[in-house]
Amino acid sequence: MRDLPNDPIERLIALLARTPGLGRRSARRAVLKMLMHPQDTMLPLADALTQAAQAVRPCETCGNLDARSPCGICRDPQRDRHLICVVEGVAELWALERAHAHRGLYHVLGGVLSPLGGVGPEDLAIQPLLSRIGEGGVEEVIVALPATVDGTATAHYLTDRLKPTGVAVTRLAQGVPVGGALDVLDEGTLAAALRARRPV
Ligand SMILES: [Zn+2]
Repeated sequence: MRDLPNDPIERLIALLARTPGLGRRSARRAVLKMLMHPQDTMLPLADALTQAAQAVRPCETCGNLDARSPCGICRDPQRDRHLICVVEGVAELWALERAHAHRGLYHVLGGVLSPLGGVGPEDLAIQPLLSRIGEGGVEEVIVALPATVDGTATAHYLTDRLKPTGVAVTRLAQGVPVGGALDVLDEGTLAAALRARRPV
């Protein structure tokens, strides 16, 4: 990578500071702490980073990130395969999993429609969703998209595209604030919103 310092400590701080949610100050503190016990912290971390970078990829079925494809959720025989929850991204999928609110499968859209941002239907995993439904067995699609202008427009678009398939389409109801991103909601709010879904 360009623009990185040669000094190993400064280099590490600079790389960590690029991590979302971790500024330069936090990166410096983390590096200092780790340098106190490099064998216990830095080497396992380096291993974990290498393994994750080499093994993790998007699930060919749902788009979740996992070391296996199909992912652990898609492979789980306990999951209700009649139910697919459509989410904007993996962050939202993980948030719903943390809330233990959804017993079915997922489908990661990879974003929401954005006329201004140049994101059209062909940029999202809509066709793969229709193909999954075409394989049969799906009875309900839960549209769990953010309550933003783009998220709502995407939900409407998706509902129209799903109508001919005959599956029931529901969406999150109470609990999701207008303009709210799903992955920052607390688990209780998220669980209530999922339970209170209703037909669109
Ligand atoms: Zn999957």
